[in-house]
Amino acid sequence: MTTLADAEALIATIPDFPEPGIQFKDISPLLADPAALAVVIDAVVEPFRGRFDVVAGIEARGFMLAGAVAIAAGVGMVPIRKAGKLPRPAASVSYDLEYGRATIEMSSDLPAGARVLLVDDILATGGTLVAGQRLIAELGYELAGTAVLMELDGLGGRDVVGDVHSLFRI
Ligand code: IMP
Repeated sequence: MTTLADAEALIATIPDFPEPGIQFKDISPLLADPAALAVVIDAVVEPFRGRFDVVAGIEARGFMLAGAVAIAAGVGMVPIRKAGKLPRPAASVSYDLEYGRATIEMSSDLPAGARVLLVDDILATGGTLVAGQRLIAELGYELAGTAVLMELDGLGGRDVVGDVHSLFRI
């Protein structure tokens, strides 16, 4: 039986991508393995089962997880997209990156007070997930939880994001 440890072992580390000095964590081999994908999606959903109405995934790798989580939990999903991609953005939040700034947007297609589980692949500094949490709050939804596959230790992400469910920590 495939375990979470087996799934974690499939995450590749790519040196110097996308820039020299960055150790990029690539979840693609994990996503490509049906048993690993199933065990990981189940573990993401488990603490929140029955406690969320919809899952929101952050572009782009968060989309892949959100679709699978939605099916596993029997809920729908909404995309949180980079600025300029959604035809009807209802809220927009900008945040700092290591170099420059980014903006993400969300539409308001959910009932007021909907309980939203926010998912992404990786927590690094936390800027992206905090921006996602702010979008959910600004639109009048309730944050049911925040979940990632992997948390990069030592970057302070957990301190700014707050309570976050992460399967793997490096
Ligand atoms: P943060 O905003 O600094 O927490 O960065 C998190 C965002 O950057 C997430 O949307 C991730 O998809 C992406 N990210 C950061 N580091 C990596 C990595 O090593 N591999 C893949 N994505 C990463």
